[in-house]
Amino acid sequence: MDYDNYKLSLEDNEPYVSQCCGSEVYEVYDSKYEEYKTICDECNSYCDILLDYEYQQVMAEQIADEMYEENKFNN
Ligand SMILES: [Zn+2]
Repeated sequence: MDYDNYKLSLEDNEPYVSQCCGSEVYEVYDSKYEEYKTICDECNSYCDILLDYEYQQVMAEQIADEMYEENKFNN
């Protein structure tokens, strides 16, 4: 299956990024599930999408969590 044939331009709409990598995403039609699936351009896996600013928020929260964990271990 050639994904390129199914690439749809999401870039004209909202700036969506993949939840896994924060990378560009495209959609493919999955005949098994009879619906469109979003594919991460970075790891070529099915992925959830976030708006760009939502992804930034998630990343900021993860970094905050990691810093919290580090502080917990260090003290
Ligand atoms: Zn990914």
